[in-house]
Amino acid sequence: MTRATRLWPLLTATHRYDKSISTYRRGAGQTIEAPILAYLVETPNGRILYDVGCDHAKIADPALRARHYDPAVFAFGAPEMGEEQCLPRHLARLGLTPADVDVVFVGHLHFDHAGGLRELRRCGCGAEIHVQQEELKAARSGEDVAVFADELLDQAGRPLPFTVREGEYELTPGVQAVATPGHTAGHMSMWIELPTGAPVLLCGDAADLQENLDDEVAPGGLWQGREAQAIASIRKLKALAAETGAELWPNHDMDFFRRLPAVRGEPS
Ligand SMILES: [Zn+2]
Repeated sequence: MTRATRLWPLLTATHRYDKSISTYRRGAGQTIEAPILAYLVETPNGRILYDVGCDHAKIADPALRARHYDPAVFAFGAPEMGEEQCLPRHLARLGLTPADVDVVFVGHLHFDHAGGLRELRRCGCGAEIHVQQEELKAARSGEDVAVFADELLDQAGRPLPFTVREGEYELTPGVQAVATPGHTAGHMSMWIELPTGAPVLLCGDAADLQENLDDEVAPGGLWQGREAQAIASIRKLKALAAETGAELWPNHDMDFFRRLPAVRGEPS
């Protein structure tokens, strides 16, 4: 076996916001509803989670919600997230527990991608947490309002034990980390080869919508205004998809998500 066996897209929350947050300098005044996704990748060598969604406590608890989703910053408010959308519940529906996850690969450290780390750990997840050095450095700088500082820490306030990586690498045969900076300093996408169908290229927030790919429009949130870098990352993803015959999966596109099957790969 030299590839992943199955891939599940998991809907962890939905978020209504101004479309210009997904498409740079486009769509202001238009509200879209975006899925907030995590992806479970099963391989012969273990299970990988790409992203972990939001911290449910900051959405469910009114005081925490008021503190973290300040309307001055989050004019559109907090995401909508039911308890049944928390990752431990998703995993339970698949007959798994957080302890069955071997690697959490955080594509970037924004609140809707890394917020679930603490809950997973509280629920017994002892997985390695892979993140890029550049990403961690930028997140810890406090310059990015979409990073919640406490989400980089454990319950006791100590830094989470990240496995810090630099650049692209193979996680396991058939699963490749692909550097796509621009939206954030160390943003990573993931290329996944499966036993049936085309490989899948999880864009992460390098491409929120199909439109970002089709029109080569940068995502709206850009680390230090790096539009050219974000567009270069979109072109890189498209070139890699063309070269390997992979499908590109945008990350916050509700229409695209609704067309996805519940699981890709080998029948169980
Ligand atoms: Zn983001």
